[in-house]
Amino acid sequence: MPFSGILGHKEIVENLRNMIDSGRMPHAVLFCEKAGYGALQLALATIEYMFCSQRQGGDSCGKCPNCIKNTKLVHPDVHFSFPINASTLIGGDKRGEVEMFYPAWRELVRENAYFNEQELCKAFGIENKLGTISVAEANSIMRKLSLSSYEGGAKVMLIMFPERITIEAANKLLKSLEEPQDGTYYFMVSHNPGKIIATILSRCRIIEVPPIESALLEQELTERLHLNPEEARFWARCAGGSLGKAIGLVSRERDEEGKRPMFVEILGKALEKDLPALMELWEEIASYGKEAQRGLCLEGGEILRKIYMMSLGLDEISYASAKEREMFRNLSGRIKPDFYRKGYGYLTNALECIERNVNPKFIFCDLCNRIFYNI
Ligand SMILES: [Zn+2]
Repeated sequence: MPFSGILGHKEIVENLRNMIDSGRMPHAVLFCEKAGYGALQLALATIEYMFCSQRQGGDSCGKCPNCIKNTKLVHPDVHFSFPINASTLIGGDKRGEVEMFYPAWRELVRENAYFNEQELCKAFGIENKLGTISVAEANSIMRKLSLSSYEGGAKVMLIMFPERITIEAANKLLKSLEEPQDGTYYFMVSHNPGKIIATILSRCRIIEVPPIESALLEQELTERLHLNPEEARFWARCAGGSLGKAIGLVSRERDEEGKRPMFVEILGKALEKDLPALMELWEEIASYGKEAQRGLCLEGGEILRKIYMMSLGLDEISYASAKEREMFRNLSGRIKPDFYRKGYGYLTNALECIERNVNPKFIFCDLCNRIFYNI
């Protein structure tokens, strides 16, 4: 990916290019964004530019052997690290477990480099448990960076979601982050910098990646997803500057033609006072993976907000699609006005419990009960 292929972020690109041209590239750069703004693209383009042997017009050439390897994410001096879940590893493979996921990683980046953490877990088939970057992985990172580079140039470690680095792993990495060997560079992409261990955070140059401009996003959606201008405008507005979110929303709308989200089912059964049906739903949710459970709670909050806006007659700014409005209209008149705020609180509480590894049966039994009695 050359700089010219990046959607927006001209100023950041300019800064990155200047840092490389002038030989003042910091050894640890942290890109912070909300999912889908394009931080990974920026990191990959910077790496490609660093390694390109025939830079032209302030950009990588896209044709030299280094560019070709970087485009395919197979450059021997560019390593990747991301959260994985140790229990999914086959037979305690010791050759550096992250490599097992490289094929899936390459495919995901090729198809949609604007993914969120949930989509990464899904691509790796580890939806059942949140991944971490563990001590074993930190050791593997140190080992890779201690070898001399294959091509005699720089060595790069790109870490996706450094907020998942455990304390023990962070302690292993600190020295290398503080006094990196010459020619060694760390790039990190975070969607939740507030959760990064402070000692890691303080050693990085932080680049805040802003939302993509609305007009650019609309244009991209028209071309990429073949939407008409009106649809593109609607989804760009819903996505708030995140191409990843827009792609996710549109593909879900297309996939789930006619299917109701689980949280809408819960609200429906609670309004009908159908407790047995509600019990079946919470048991089903308890069997989901942790990421799917988080997803349900986050989506639930969005749904509540949309129905609330519709109940106030503010359909236009509810950001609900035509299909959703049809689905929610029936609910918005029946939910008690004071439920929206309470419901949001229940979902927030459930999210905290998921993070703390509370038994999911308790979490969702409690959530559904509260909704049942207060809706
Ligand atoms: Zn090149």
